[in-house]
Amino acid sequence: MATAMSASLGAATAAALAVEDRSLAHNYSPLPVVIASGDGAWVTDVDGKRYLDGLAAYSAVNFGHGNQRLLDAARTQLDRVTLTSRAFVNDRLGPFATALADLTGTDMVLPMNTGAEAVESAIKVSRAWGYRVKGVPADRATIIVASGNFHGRTTTIVSFSDDPTARNDFGPFTPGFRTVPYGDADALRAAMDDTVVAVLLEPIQGEGGVVIPPASYLPAVREVCDEFGALLVADEIQSGLGRTGHTLAVQRVGVTPDLITLGKALGGGIVPVSAVVGRRDVLGVLRPGEHGSTFGGNPLAAAVGSEVVAVLAEGTFQQRALDGEPVLRGLLEDLVGHGVVAHRVAGLWAGIDIDPALGTGKEIAHDMADRGVLVKDTHGSTIRFAPPLVVTDDEVRHAIGALGEVLRARS
Ligand SMILES: *Cc1c(COP(=O)(O)O)cnc(C)c1O
Repeated sequence: MATAMSASLGAATAAALAVEDRSLAHNYSPLPVVIASGDGAWVTDVDGKRYLDGLAAYSAVNFGHGNQRLLDAARTQLDRVTLTSRAFVNDRLGPFATALADLTGTDMVLPMNTGAEAVESAIKVSRAWGYRVKGVPADRATIIVASGNFHGRTTTIVSFSDDPTARNDFGPFTPGFRTVPYGDADALRAAMDDTVVAVLLEPIQGEGGVVIPPASYLPAVREVCDEFGALLVADEIQSGLGRTGHTLAVQRVGVTPDLITLGKALGGGIVPVSAVVGRRDVLGVLRPGEHGSTFGGNPLAAAVGSEVVAVLAEGTFQQRALDGEPVLRGLLEDLVGHGVVAHRVAGLWAGIDIDPALGTGKEIAHDMADRGVLVKDTHGSTIRFAPPLVVTDDEVRHAIGALGEVLRARS
């Protein structure tokens, strides 16, 4: 892939791509952009070309590249202590957990590192709660998930993906999951029975293409869960922590889950930090030795996570995403019929369906990179736009303007 495009590449970029190609497993197919530094909503490549970052590392960089407040928190902690294991207590984790529980309106926090680990942890906790509290017979617990989901890449999580690329050749799969159509509360109700311990959903499906369900959906899911005595587990790893204009996307529709998975932006784009947060009577089922992680809750992660929580408690990033939403929506609306078929916007987060006749999402993303704007395709001809929340309205206009140019050039 690198060689086919090398004619238009800068010398340092071509050299860096060749080095990558030599010994890196091919589990990604990146755009040929080799980033060397970042500042706010912008990154610069090894040849000195600047790009507006329209992906923000899948929302892990919500607070901008090189956010001084977050870097200062990390630097201070680097000089104190970075890793203790949880065989002992560190002085940063407790305050982080308390602040995160307060921010999210929950009782308890289970710290992990990556998003997939948080989801795995929520699955284990839901099952243990099902056996110990709900009284489901041994090994019969069912978790209901939605079509089009993305919850990570571990063997158990891909077991309930319906994306063939994520699954094929990775079986045998973990049993105990049942898939229902996303956005359809009646289908969910029909799939419920006494073995269901949890319904696991993204409030907005990010990897699925920024799919926003009808406003009545999550409240109806909450009702069904209450009726059948099942937990509602919201995966807010991508939707949470400011992206949609709220601390949590479930707040858009006034729904309170029993467990919430967080990740990505929780580490401020500096270190991997994830967590399951939720009710004491649910997370409290875990007993010593049943679950853990060597790096989970480490003092460096807790120090960065604490600063992320402090930033979010001020609400300025949520407000920025709220204020940017109508601007972004208006710009995309103007492109409908000019290469854009449909768009979905929540805060500073957009899924944009391109007329397939004009190219694949990957091709559009490639053309936009040529014009200095980085975006990521999801499936087929859909691209997503999710810039760092420090982005200005003018920068949003610049990015969507570049999309308009790309679509015109392909018409
Ligand atoms: C990215 C993502 C995950 C997985 O997070 P990793 O840190 O990549 O393991 C899980 N759920 C959702 C909704 C995500 O967007």
